[in-house]
Amino acid sequence: MERVYVDNAATTAMSDKAISALNSCLKDTYGNPSSLHTLGNLAAEKLSAARRDIAQCLGARTDEIYFTSGGTEADNQAIMTAAEIGKENGKFHIISQKTEHHAVLNTLSKLEKQGFEITLLDVDSEGKISAEQVENVIREDTVLVTIMTANNETGTIMPIKEIVEVCHEKGVLCHTDAVQAVGHIYVDVGDTDCDMLSLSAHKFHGAKGVGVLYCKRGITPYTLIEGGGQEHGVRSGTENVGGICAMAEALKEAIDNFDENMVRVSNMRNTLEKQLLYIPHSQINGSQNNRLPSIVNISFKGIESESLLLMLDNEGICCSAGSACNSESLDPSYVLKAMGISDDMAMGAVRFSLSEYNTIDEINYVVQKTTEIVKYLRSVSPVWENLNK
Ligand code: PLP
Repeated sequence: MERVYVDNAATTAMSDKAISALNSCLKDTYGNPSSLHTLGNLAAEKLSAARRDIAQCLGARTDEIYFTSGGTEADNQAIMTAAEIGKENGKFHIISQKTEHHAVLNTLSKLEKQGFEITLLDVDSEGKISAEQVENVIREDTVLVTIMTANNETGTIMPIKEIVEVCHEKGVLCHTDAVQAVGHIYVDVGDTDCDMLSLSAHKFHGAKGVGVLYCKRGITPYTLIEGGGQEHGVRSGTENVGGICAMAEALKEAIDNFDENMVRVSNMRNTLEKQLLYIPHSQINGSQNNRLPSIVNISFKGIESESLLLMLDNEGICCSAGSACNSESLDPSYVLKAMGISDDMAMGAVRFSLSEYNTIDEINYVVQKTTEIVKYLRSVSPVWENLNK
């Protein structure tokens, strides 16, 4: 097999429709949407159409959609927006949880240095938090609760609707990082009623470097980037028209094929998971019932995931150990540690993340190669020998 790409939580291949939307903007509609001539107007029209389509896919209004350079910027902007509101109202407490992406955690650390107090909730052994946990720590001076919709390492889904309800009962803003969820599970801001939401195009077959901050009408996003006043004056810089049009195309496609893709991907995921669990001393990390259909995070005792990854790569299989952002570090994943998973299991964790572009033949190949390599690595591992004594 030439190459099997099962690292879709890191990024996805662009869809044909998204590529052709991008190409059309690059070749034909290359005007600056702020220019007053015909080509500028055409680009502005495309931008408006993309904003309308994306709003519709999310159950939002068009004036609630702000284009960003991706999920990281949207997370930063959402949290800084709430922080500004907090400063104006003397509220300096923010609640989040331990397995958030670093785009959230590092922004919160920055605010902590500026005098905000941050409460990071513990997750349970499946990586979940409950609305009750949130309710118990909300205070008079809490301005924001920011909880991801689904975790990028394990796929565990959080009860966002219930969390938003608790927040709103107490007059607290709620943001959700839905970067891993949008295009993969049902996400509708009208339904959850969250105040802010982040998404990123490259997680659902759009281009890298483009995303959205959804910000409910009545809340003005904090301006992270000053300049010519694009995006209703709150996010300057000439718009990435091609990337934005490709994102709209990719999101429409994901929503149009939602049910079919969900069944296809979860069937492949179930096969992969069931077959891999035949390997002795293996365990699935994450929720059994509330998980993205695409992610299998599995630990093999006595294995170092880096060795497994490299050997799988030699066989043409691309996957991750934990999150791609952690691949420089040999420490066990902070997400798995927060779930109480032992160091030796966390060190042997691999994340396979599928998309509808995978085939069952590819899944069978991944099972065959992973089984062979785990067996081989254990046979040459002194750690494994000691564990089995
Ligand atoms: N949030 C989550 C949950 C993610 O998985 C990622 C990317 O991996 C991001 C935020 C950052 O998104 P981007 O790569 O678009 O900056």
